Amino acid sequence: MTTNNAVRGSARVRPLFARVAPHWDESLLSLVSRSCAANVFERPADLMRFAGIRVARCGSIVFMDSQRTVALPDLLSVPPEDIGLRLHPRVVDGGFPEGVDWYGAVLPRRYVESRTRRVSPLSLRSSPYHRSTWMIRPLSFCAESWERLIRNCPYCERTLGWHQALGPWRCEWCGRSLRHYRGEQVLKDLRSDLQIATDLVSPDATTRRNALSKLPPPFCKWGAGEAFAAIVELGTGAQIHKPDGDPGDAIRLTACSRLETSSPTSKRSS
Ligand SMILES: [Zn+2]
Repeated sequence: MTTNNAVRGSARVRPLFARVAPHWDESLLSLVSRSCAANVFERPADLMRFAGIRVARCGSIVFMDSQRTVALPDLLSVPPEDIGLRLHPRVVDGGFPEGVDWYGAVLPRRYVESRTRRVSPLSLRSSPYHRSTWMIRPLSFCAESWERLIRNCPYCERTLGWHQALGPWRCEWCGRSLRHYRGEQVLKDLRSDLQIATDLVSPDATTRRNALSKLPPPFCKWGAGEAFAAIVELGTGAQIHKPDGDPGDAIRLTACSRLETSSPTSKRSS
């Protein structure tokens, strides 16, 4: 049996038979899940043991640093940076008491969902992988499909997670594909503001910078993670106090507040 220490000492492990290429905006848990499905592993935890990673809960791997996942790139046959980018270890002095690295930006750890698998069925139908921004708790929608994310299976109603290796597009409990379900759509007049908020937490640094440049001062001078957190927090306040002022920033903040206050729910089929 391989141990963590043994793998740290020798990062070389035998690659899996079937290699899965990551999408640029794919989450690590999605990459692991698809690799499991391609290599007929029953559980992601089984695959991770081959890389010397033992965790009580599969999702917690995303908060590890690259030292603890040193064998994963070889196992999955991907460059180390493809794994490192998708890890969200703690950042000390990053502006938040509990900050984590989000593709080079810093976000509060509480914003990053690693336990529940939230998905857009419409986007899964377009391409069956889990987008990184679906992990961002304050975002209750997918900016690709403009569909509200679901967190429960519409067929068996159980919470979607990462325990079983059926792929990101299937319910791990009843095995049914989620790709044919149609969820609620985000109102069109909110989308331009919500796109900016989503772009602030994009895995792509250029997209984050462009989004920052569209914000009013002082947000445009901040880090993307700080600006995103401010929008979420201020937007929540704007929603509570129901500002009756005019457009402009109030609308942006109020629009963004709906990200925070609309808890993701599934629209279950009868
Ligand atoms: Zn189900």
